[in-house]
Amino acid sequence: MSIAQEIKDRLDIVDVISDYLPLKRSGRNLSGFCPFHNNTRTPAFYVSPERQSWKCFGACADGGDVISFVMRREGLDFREALELLAQRAGVEIPAYNPKTPQDAAVEDRLGDLLESAADYFHHLLLYAPEAEEARQYVRSRGLYKRTVEQFKLGFSLDSFDACRAHFEGQGYSNYDLLDAGLLTENEEKQRTYDRFRNRLMFPIWDAKGKVVGFGARTLEKDGVPKYLNSPQTDMFDKSRLLYGLNFGKRDIREARQAVIVEGYMDVIRAHERGFKNVIAQMGTALTEHQLSLLKRYSKQFVIALDADEAGTNAALQGLRRAVDLDGLMRVGKEKNTDIRVLTLPDGYDPDDLILEDPSRWARLVQQNAVSLGDFVIQALLTGVDLSDSTAVARAAREIITILEKLPDPAERDAFIHKLARKLNTSERSLRQLAPRKRKIAKEPQRFVRSEQKQARLAQLKLNRQMVAPLATEPLEANYLRQALEYPELMVKVDLQLQRVSQPIVTREDFTNTEDQALWNHLRRRSVAAGRGQVVTISELCDSLDSVLVSRIETLLGLSASKQGEQLAARMTHSVLNWRLDKVKRHLSEVKQLVDEAQALGNADDTENYSFRCQELTMMIYSINQAKHGLSSTALRED
Ligand SMILES: [Zn+2]
Repeated sequence: MSIAQEIKDRLDIVDVISDYLPLKRSGRNLSGFCPFHNNTRTPAFYVSPERQSWKCFGACADGGDVISFVMRREGLDFREALELLAQRAGVEIPAYNPKTPQDAAVEDRLGDLLESAADYFHHLLLYAPEAEEARQYVRSRGLYKRTVEQFKLGFSLDSFDACRAHFEGQGYSNYDLLDAGLLTENEEKQRTYDRFRNRLMFPIWDAKGKVVGFGARTLEKDGVPKYLNSPQTDMFDKSRLLYGLNFGKRDIREARQAVIVEGYMDVIRAHERGFKNVIAQMGTALTEHQLSLLKRYSKQFVIALDADEAGTNAALQGLRRAVDLDGLMRVGKEKNTDIRVLTLPDGYDPDDLILEDPSRWARLVQQNAVSLGDFVIQALLTGVDLSDSTAVARAAREIITILEKLPDPAERDAFIHKLARKLNTSERSLRQLAPRKRKIAKEPQRFVRSEQKQARLAQLKLNRQMVAPLATEPLEANYLRQALEYPELMVKVDLQLQRVSQPIVTREDFTNTEDQALWNHLRRRSVAAGRGQVVTISELCDSLDSVLVSRIETLLGLSASKQGEQLAARMTHSVLNWRLDKVKRHLSEVKQLVDEAQALGNADDTENYSFRCQELTMMIYSINQAKHGLSSTALRED
């Protein structure tokens, strides 16, 4: 058994996820509000204890196992998430194997490509006749020439294949360009084309100053989306990047303060006018991981929020949009970490404000930023009628719930004291409002598992045995097994899929997070094999993290097929079969949600879920067509 599997077997996904959000029983599953998208009306997030999986039926339409949940929630990579869970499960995992020269070579190649792409877009912005409008836009924002050069602003042509043609001419393959996020795939028509078209390009650097991706602003008046980013990859991980940190880290250290804003333009303007300790998160709520990264440079953070529109909760929602509040509270646990919040004057964002009056910005940051606790108290008491005891109690309860998360007891007490004075009540009565504390097992549970827990685990295993394993998992494993044996197989399968107008295999095709991680490496190996560079299984294992090697060992226990022309066709069939299975299962789940929404009289949900049903039905039709098409071509070629 692989290490990841062993860890998953020892944990109950329900326990783990319950530490992050409340779950309620809902038939055979549990449901709650999805932590990955804004979801507060009807719970769209489901956890299946039987399958030990989670799924969001709302905006993210994502799902996975306990490892992928922790990866997303904590902003960790596969290895880090596994380490966290291994501790909880009491499983030892072997030390990390460092990257090999082969891995480094692949990364260098992608890094070079991204670097060249930044130059290519920048050159277009400066000189291309087609970029006139973009240049006008940049001029209208009043940016200095040296700023445009320093941040290497760029322009992408309004074309579906200009960028591809340019880099194909330099010897990069479609796969390279997809990996780098410069191409995108149309899932219906199954073709690839330039991701960035007619947009102002912002290269994004990591802290070391390497280009890892792009943010792109539309130049069309009502263009959607307004900002388009590179896709999430190992290199471009939005939860781990901070825009401007490469330019600002020295100043952050010197100023002993980092100011966090929301947009690229805010950062650029601040740096242009001399405020180089300003950085931005990447369109997601500021994560714990980003804060840990920042803590290397400074212990004081000022989070600058645009003005709240209408008092009461709007300010707090703004903060929640900007930061992962719980994560922030946890990061604050280190003594002398000082997190402050600055609310900007009505109608201003940092860009406008700095442009209008740089000294005002400096003053606001120094004088108007308040501590996180004060901000929470202020925000939640705004607009509350202090003579209305019910309203006061409600606000107080909410404040206490948030303040309770502050890890430093002294700080917590100080805020409760302050709040008591403000509300003219006793600290004791405030403390009684605090929610009953959940015990969160953060310590390793090695050797201390209680009998009760053991019994529960045994029951869990029994339950799992009673549920038939997903039919798709053996198919997925077999595909990876054969790909291990025949490196070039994956590329062949992709070609066959494209021939029948189906999307090529991606990491989302795999149920297990470790298989997703392994797939990444196998596909690179497959592409290299296409170029004549064959990496043997043992070389591959040498280059991989030990936790993935244990998965390879498990896979090698499965039997290998005989090589032959038929193998790629059979594997392609297999991919289509497991996709079909998953879509059908998904459809039956969504149908249930339609029934539930109807029963509750929730028209919006009924409509959304019904629409999703139609989409899934179409997908089933299209996959069946493809299976049919595949059999006939396979026959013809024999
Ligand atoms: Zn969601």
